[in-house]
Amino acid sequence: MTVKVRFAPSPTGKLHVGNIRAALFNWLFAKKEGGSFLLRSDDTDKERSTVEYEELIQKDLAWLGLVHDEFARQSERFGVYEDVADHLMSEGLLYPCYETAEELDRKRKLQRARGLPPVYDRAALELTENERAALEEEGRKPHYRFKLSRSEVSWDDLIRGETKLDTSTISDPVLIREDGQFLYTLPSCVDDIDFGITHVIRGEDHVTNTAAQVEVFRALIEYRGDGIMPSFAHHSLLVGKDGEGLSKRLGSLSISAMREAGLEPEAITSLLSRLGTSDPIEPRISMEEMAEGFDFGRMGRAPARFDMDELHQLNAKILHMMPYERMEERLEEAGVSQELWETAKGNIELFSDIGQWRDVVMGEIDPVIDDEDKAVTDAAAAAVPQGEITEADWQALIEKVKTETGAKGKKLFMPLRKALTGAEHGPEMGPIFALIGAEKARARFAGKRA
Ligand code: GLU
Repeated sequence: MTVKVRFAPSPTGKLHVGNIRAALFNWLFAKKEGGSFLLRSDDTDKERSTVEYEELIQKDLAWLGLVHDEFARQSERFGVYEDVADHLMSEGLLYPCYETAEELDRKRKLQRARGLPPVYDRAALELTENERAALEEEGRKPHYRFKLSRSEVSWDDLIRGETKLDTSTISDPVLIREDGQFLYTLPSCVDDIDFGITHVIRGEDHVTNTAAQVEVFRALIEYRGDGIMPSFAHHSLLVGKDGEGLSKRLGSLSISAMREAGLEPEAITSLLSRLGTSDPIEPRISMEEMAEGFDFGRMGRAPARFDMDELHQLNAKILHMMPYERMEERLEEAGVSQELWETAKGNIELFSDIGQWRDVVMGEIDPVIDDEDKAVTDAAAAAVPQGEITEADWQALIEKVKTETGAKGKKLFMPLRKALTGAEHGPEMGPIFALIGAEKARARFAGKRA
């Protein structure tokens, strides 16, 4: 069996760390198993779905390296869903209901008051043809519910293990609204069967859905005469670092916001692939490597904590290990040479920080020299050799200044660093010195802008 998975966002908003985690797990699993990854746009909600969001979703996924092998759009398959709905109706598995939202609400309140679970009472199944006609005469339009078996459904969840749910504890799900719109459940099952999805990997907020969908799947497989019941894996959800829900912060946790903030896609995938697993969080720049270690068995059931600081720390680590070739285009655009990248990448947290070191090397800066350090920097100005300099010249310069002034340790190094780079911290001085060049270094040690 060739593995085929799908990521099925609704194009009604931006992707954020929460839903991208499902995308990532699907992608990694497909990669590891040599399977394929379908991106499905669940755009049955005509009012809320937009082309702009669909495009943004594709852009975000491509940026993260979660490239799909196949693309499908539910809005292009309404005919198929209608045919299936007709079949289910003829089988008595899909039935019309006429209650308004208020009436349903009232029913639920009454059930609760009596200590009963708020499960739909199937009153609509009792309606006679005449009663239905009368309700339609009143101007009521039916919505349609799927008739659950009211028995136990179970599946061997790849993350949660044996999972059971008695479908008598849930309401028959509405598959079609009054206005004819298909809700998520039916199109999703139809597509999973028709596209040959072998594994449905999604958040555990879908567990109850799954119980109902297993019954829908069974009916569809029977109707189609073939098709397979997918396996299921429900991963735990993300919470904030203090355990709070993420829903209010999702705007700032969108993938596009992170891209705009200058974070690297590899930092996001490294963090999200390991959060909530028993494996340590490590920076990884190879998605293939990440996929090799992917294992449902290592995923925990507790909510996974997302911490923005952790993402930033990982971002720095990703940059530190990033080879020039992977960044070539961006570095050329930023005017940064390979030597400078190799020298300074260990000192940046965001890619844009490299600009500071580019300016130190290529641009002009004001040296920072405190009065009490003048003897040291003057000696350094005199000690800069003529012509081309290399890293090795730095050591010689240090020795000369030391002998000349008697300064050592921090008293020796810090004034030189501040004069040469304008900052107290930064990359190793030898290579930076060589990159800055003799003329500029001499001028800066002498206190001149250069
Ligand atoms: N469109 C659904 C959602 O975004 C897909 C869920 C699923 O993976 O089945 O929740």
